[in-house]
Amino acid sequence: MEDASQLIANDAKSIVQTHLDRLGEIKDKTLDPQVKQEKFEQIRQALQQRDAVLVAHYYCDPEVQELAEATGGCVSDSLEMARFGRDHPAKTLVVAGVKFMGETAKILSPEKTILMPTLEATCSLDLGCPVDEFTQFCDAHPDHTVVVYANTSAAVKARADWVVTSSCAVEIVEHLDSLGEKIIWAPDQHLGRYIQKKTGANMLIWDGACIVHEEFRARGITNMKSVYPNAAVLVHPESPESVIAVADAVGSTSQLIKAAQTLEQDTLIVATDRGIFYKMQQAVPNKTLIEAPTAGEGATCRSCAHCPWMAMNELDGILDVLQKSDQEIFVDAQLALRAKQPLDRMLAFSAALKG
Ligand code: SF4
Repeated sequence: MEDASQLIANDAKSIVQTHLDRLGEIKDKTLDPQVKQEKFEQIRQALQQRDAVLVAHYYCDPEVQELAEATGGCVSDSLEMARFGRDHPAKTLVVAGVKFMGETAKILSPEKTILMPTLEATCSLDLGCPVDEFTQFCDAHPDHTVVVYANTSAAVKARADWVVTSSCAVEIVEHLDSLGEKIIWAPDQHLGRYIQKKTGANMLIWDGACIVHEEFRARGITNMKSVYPNAAVLVHPESPESVIAVADAVGSTSQLIKAAQTLEQDTLIVATDRGIFYKMQQAVPNKTLIEAPTAGEGATCRSCAHCPWMAMNELDGILDVLQKSDQEIFVDAQLALRAKQPLDRMLAFSAALKG
C-alpha cells in the first residue's frame, strides 16, 4: 500500500502531466512555416512602404516576436519598448502589445503615427485603476508622492509624479524612500508589496492585479519541483507573495532572462507569461524551460499563463493595420504633456542607473 507521501507525489505527477499535455496542444497550433514566411514578406514590404517599425513585447506570440526581429524592430519589456520607439527614426511605430504601451509610445513621440494591430487589447491593471477613483485616492493623501506602474492609462500617468516599470521600480522607490517621501503605489498590489518588502518604504498600495500572474500558485510550483527537484524557479513580482516566496530569482521580464543565463541550474520553471519563452530560450538554448502551472487551490486558469490581450496581436492584424491605418492611437495633447513628465523622469533615472 502506498504511503501518504507517495500518494502526494503521484498526485503532483498527474497535475504536472496534465499541464505538460496542454503545452503540447499549444505547440501543435503553430503556423505552417511557408505560410509564415509569406506573411512575413508581405508585412516587411508594408513596413517599408509606411516607413514603419514593429515594436513587440516579450508576451506576444512567438511569431510576432520573430517578425519584429526579422524586420529590424525590437522585442523587449515595456521600458525598452518606450525607449526604442522614442529613439527610432521611423515615422510610424506599430506597437504589438497592449493599449497602454501604444499610449506611452504616442506620449513620448507625439510626432509619430502609432498603430496597433488591435485597440481592444487592454490590461487588467489598467482596467482596475480608473482615473476618477484614483484621483480621489491621491487627493485624499496629498502628502504622498504618486508612483504608478507603466500598466496604466495616460490619464492615470498624468496624475502621477513617477511612472515605473518592473525593471526599475525597486530602485526608484528606494530613491524616493531615501528622500523620506511617503508613496502612493498603483495599481499592482503584488508588485507593490514586493517593493515595499524590498525597500521598507512607507507605501499606500492600490489593489489591482494582473490576471495572468495572479493565477500562479505556490502549491502548483511545489508539485512541479517534486517532479524536477533540480530545477530553479523564476518568478515575476506581479505574482502572489506565496509564489515569490518559492522563487530562486524574482524580477522583470528582462531580469528573468538574465537570471536564466546566470543561474547554474539547467532546468528552469518560469512563472510569467509564456510569451517570454521565445527570447529566454534564445538566451539559454541548452536549458530546459518549463511553464509554471496555474494549478492549486483557488486557481481558475482564466489566463493559463498567457495574457489574453497580448494574444490578440496577430500577424494578420499587423498587416491589416499597415494597409488600413484604422487602429491608430491618439492621446489628448494636454494630457500627453502631463503624462510625459513622470515618464521622462523614469527614463532619465533608469538611464542614469545604467551609467
Ligand atoms: S500580462 Fe498582466 S500585466 Fe501584462 S498586459 Fe496582460 S494583464 Fe496586463
